[in-house]
Amino acid sequence: MSRIIGIDLGTTNSCVAVLDDKGQPTTLAAADGERTIPSWVSWSVSGQVAVGARARRQGVTNASATVFGAKRLIGRKVNADDVSWFARLAPFRIVAAPNGDAWVRIHGQPISPQEIAAHVLRAVRRVAEESLGEAVTRAVVTVPAYFDDAQRQATRDAGQIAGLDVVRILNEPTAAALAYGAHRVGEGRRIIAVFDLGGGTFDISLMSVENGIFEVLATGGDSALGGEDWDRRVQERIVDEVFDQHRIDITSIPMAMSRLREACENAKKALSTEDHAKIALPFLANDQHGAPINYEKRIDREYIEGLTKDLLDRLEPPCRRALEDAKLAPNEVEEVLLVGGMSRWPAVQAVVERIFGKKPSKGANPDEVVALGAAAYAGILSGDSDDAALLDVTPHDVGIRVGDSQFALMVPRNSMLPVRAKRLFATTTENQRFVSIELYQGDDQDVSRMRKLGQVVLDDLPAGPAGSVRVELVITIDVESILSVTARELRFGREASVTIRPSGGLSQREIVEIIQRRRLETQFAASLPPSADEDGVAGGVRVTTREQLITRPGDPDDSGKA
Ligand code: AMP
Repeated sequence: MSRIIGIDLGTTNSCVAVLDDKGQPTTLAAADGERTIPSWVSWSVSGQVAVGARARRQGVTNASATVFGAKRLIGRKVNADDVSWFARLAPFRIVAAPNGDAWVRIHGQPISPQEIAAHVLRAVRRVAEESLGEAVTRAVVTVPAYFDDAQRQATRDAGQIAGLDVVRILNEPTAAALAYGAHRVGEGRRIIAVFDLGGGTFDISLMSVENGIFEVLATGGDSALGGEDWDRRVQERIVDEVFDQHRIDITSIPMAMSRLREACENAKKALSTEDHAKIALPFLANDQHGAPINYEKRIDREYIEGLTKDLLDRLEPPCRRALEDAKLAPNEVEEVLLVGGMSRWPAVQAVVERIFGKKPSKGANPDEVVALGAAAYAGILSGDSDDAALLDVTPHDVGIRVGDSQFALMVPRNSMLPVRAKRLFATTTENQRFVSIELYQGDDQDVSRMRKLGQVVLDDLPAGPAGSVRVELVITIDVESILSVTARELRFGREASVTIRPSGGLSQREIVEIIQRRRLETQFAASLPPSADEDGVAGGVRVTTREQLITRPGDPDDSGKA
């Protein structure tokens, strides 16, 4: 069996780790020495796919065909609130697939977020294979704790498209806690907080750890807050300065904006440890007389802090809300673990300390800690590590519809998997011939706001007055989140069952079609002269040939932005 790698498939960046010879998790570097790969995918006009840093550099010059944040779309419907918000913001088109899923349209072609994530996973897989010198086919992939079954399954499907068997989906805060060794320290139940401030999102998770069992007590955050907001503030200030001095609006010059964004981010990163940083951008643009604008500025940490105070203020309310949801006082949290590159920022750490009344733990590298935890978990799964058992839990409530739209809970969220729940029903009308039971998942009291998982119908019920026929419903969810439901009439034992596998939106046939198409594209690219398929990390693919290669059932509706 090949070894199992651990992958942090992030909104902004992704990272891969494995257990080293001594059984310690370690992240792997790409050929350029970087240990995180931007989760960006770009399609050039000439049809080449670029992934990672190369794709990100095209974010300004080729904005409509450069996709970031596909994780915000995976397994989601286009009309979900935060998807609509992202669609308004994103410079690429987000469209509705025939089933209402959020897809992306690039050069007129509809592409599922699963396929986009697969490009990133393939790049990550290649980093692992080049670094290990062996083929890699199995992975543990992390997802946010609040991902529902559809989002988790869509992530698995992305793995399959990338040629990876996703042996387990792991919650990101659980992965972080594992990497920090939080499961080993001490006896008894401990409460920890995982504070994750990445490039585009902020997540706070409160968890309890006991005997190697992680339970997510509450999650919260702000899906529109991350390190990029800090960069943008500095960028906007410099755009204003250049305008005031030269009467030139550089926002209309993509190349200048791309360079400015990179310079601002680098300065911010440097200032998390240094006192001063220099932003130097020679030949940024030409002024009104055609003379070059050579921009240069020395800034200190206070300069950025002054521009971003309101961003810091947005960190506290989600933490307070999560504490309230988990019915915890801040001092009951024993340890706060930092995750996400932006958690390195000293002012962010000061906010964490103020909220929880203790210094956050800084033992691990916040950019890599989730991938390290995934690798540690991979070690446990493959038997290379005899660490504590780690049990998965259900991320959301599962239950049935009663009456018009009320929800009756059967399996509460955070139930340890596998789980089994029973409930007895009686007929409500005379000579009722069948019962139809609809299953829902979510965290609400009204099923119209929840995700319908499926339905089981038991017919040919024996005749009798209302309440005389009793039906037992049994729900089982296994460790792979596969849900089985059986409804059984108790007098004669007639029963009906369904097995509900989580669906990520793509059918198995569609996934196989994508894999076959990708194979054809790769073969076609390989038959081109060598220079034509050079794309850096991910392997060259010519999308201009797609039309010859694809017949897609039902083209997603391009009715404008979501
Ligand atoms: P992640 O999504 O965890 O990879 O985090 C990426 C974000 O962290 C980006 O906005 C980076 O600019 C930011 N970041 C990375 N390193 C640092 C650092 N040393 N100081 C401040 N921000 C950082």
